[in-house]
Amino acid sequence: MTSPGIVIVGAGQAAAVAAHALREHGYRGRITMLGRERHRPYERPPLSKAVLVAAEEPRLDVLAQDAWALGDIDLRSCSDAVALDLSKRQVRLADGQVLPYDMCLIATGGEASTLACAPAGRPHVHYVRTLDDARRLRAALQGKPRVAILGGGFLGLEIASSALSAGAAVTVIERATSVLDRFLPPEASAWLESGLRQAGARLLLGTALEGVNALPDGRMRLSTHAGDLEADEIVVAIGLSPNDALARDAGLQIAAGGGVLVDAQCRTSDEHVFACGDCTSQQRPGHAAPTRLESWQNANEQARTAAAAMLGATGPTPAVPWFWTDQGRHNIQMLGLPAPGLDYVRRGDPATGKVLWIGHRGAVPLHGVAINAGADLRAIRPLFEQRQPVLLDEFQRDATDLRAWARQMRGSPPSTVQPPLRA
Ligand SMILES: Cc1cc2nc3c(=O)[nH]c(=O)nc-3n(C[C@H](O)[C@H](O)[C@H](O)COP(=O)(O)OP(=O)(O)OC[C@H]3O[C@@H](n4cnc5c(N)ncnc54)[C@H](O)[C@@H]3O)c2cc1C
Repeated sequence: MTSPGIVIVGAGQAAAVAAHALREHGYRGRITMLGRERHRPYERPPLSKAVLVAAEEPRLDVLAQDAWALGDIDLRSCSDAVALDLSKRQVRLADGQVLPYDMCLIATGGEASTLACAPAGRPHVHYVRTLDDARRLRAALQGKPRVAILGGGFLGLEIASSALSAGAAVTVIERATSVLDRFLPPEASAWLESGLRQAGARLLLGTALEGVNALPDGRMRLSTHAGDLEADEIVVAIGLSPNDALARDAGLQIAAGGGVLVDAQCRTSDEHVFACGDCTSQQRPGHAAPTRLESWQNANEQARTAAAAMLGATGPTPAVPWFWTDQGRHNIQMLGLPAPGLDYVRRGDPATGKVLWIGHRGAVPLHGVAINAGADLRAIRPLFEQRQPVLLDEFQRDATDLRAWARQMRGSPPSTVQPPLRA
C-alpha cells in the first residue's frame, strides 16, 4: 500500500513554496494540498496595489503553471479542511472525505479581522484578503466612488493610494492620532500623512467609528465621535486574525496572542504536524515571547524551513524579519521589529523622498526603516544580524559611504574602532 504522504492544509503563499521545497529536497512521496479558495496559490501583495489599478491584472501565480504537474502535487481547490485528528493522523474535509497523512503542514494563513457594524458580504463593504475580494473592489473603484477606509495601517494606506490613483475620493478613518505609529518613527508617519493629504486623501486621525448605516439609495452613513460622513464604498482594513482554529480544535498548542505555536524549525506541539506562514506564532531565537509575522518574506522563509524540517534536515534559523509596502509611488522597507522605546536616527531628508532610519537601543540597531532606500537598507543588513553597538553619528553623515561604514562596523564594533570613521 502506498503511504499517505504529506497533506498540506491551505493553498496560499506558504503552502506552494513548501510543496516546491519538499520536491527540491528530494521528497518523492505523495503531496496533497487542500485549498479553500477556487484559485491556485497566488501572491497577495499585489491585491492592494496593481490589481486595483493596473490596466491589466498582473500574473499572480506563486508557482509556474507547469510546476503542479512537474512536481506531481495533488492540488485540491475548493477543499475546506474542517478537522484534524492527531492520534489517527487524519484530516477531515467539509464534504466528509477523510485523508490520512504521514505528516501534515498547516499553512492556513489568516482572515481579515471584521467590524460588526460593517460585516463582510454586506453590499458596498469590502475586505481585501483574497483575489476575489480585490476584483470586487477594483470593479467598485471604476465608478470613482467616495471611499471610506477604516484603518490607517499598511493595508489601509496602500488601498487609499490605489483608490486615489483610480480617481476615488478617499477618507481614511484611524483611531490612533498618527498613521502606523506602532511601526514607523514619528517623522515617517508624518511624511506619509502629508503625502496622502497632498494626493487628495482626507485623514480623520484620532477618530473612532461608532456605527455604519445603509441609506435607502445604497450610500452609507458613518458615524464617528467627531461627526458623520457619507461614503459609497467602505473598505475595512483593521488587521488579521490567524486561521488557527483547526489546530486549536485538534489540541495543538496555540500562542497566547493567537497563532499555531511553532519553534524555530516550524515544529508544532505534535511531532507529525508542522506549520508555517501567517497562521503561526514562532518562538524565535533571541526573543522572549513568540512572534507573529504577517509578511511575504516570513511565509516563504518558514515554508522552506518547515519543508526541510519535515524531511529531517535543519532549515535555516529565522532571519531578521523584512517587510515591504508600496505606498503610491513610494517603496517602504523595514528590517527587524519595532519595539517601544527605540530611539531613531536618520540619514537623508524626508523632503527629498529618500530616507533611512535606524531604530536602536544603546546604539544597537534593532529596526531599520527605508523610504525609497531599499538598497541602502540591504547594505546595512548585517548590522541588524550582528546586534552590536555601532557609530550612529557616522551613519547620519551624508558624506559617509554607507557600505564602507557597514563593513567597518561589522568587522569591528565601536568599542574596538579607534579612531572613529572619517567622512
Ligand atoms: C492585500 C494584501 C497585501 C499584502 N501586501 C504585502 C506586502 O506589501 N508586503 C508583505 O511582506 N506582505 C504583504 N501581504 C502579506 C502576505 O501576502 C502574506 O503574509 C502571505 O500571503 C501569507 O501567506 P500564507 O500562505 O501564510 O497565507 P495565505 O496566503 O493567506 O494562504 C492561506 C490559504 O489557506 C486557505 N485556508 C485557510 N484555512 C483553510 C482550511 N481549513 N482548509 C483549506 N484551506 C484553508 C486560505 O483560503 C488561503 O487561501 C499582503 C497581504 C494582503 C492580503
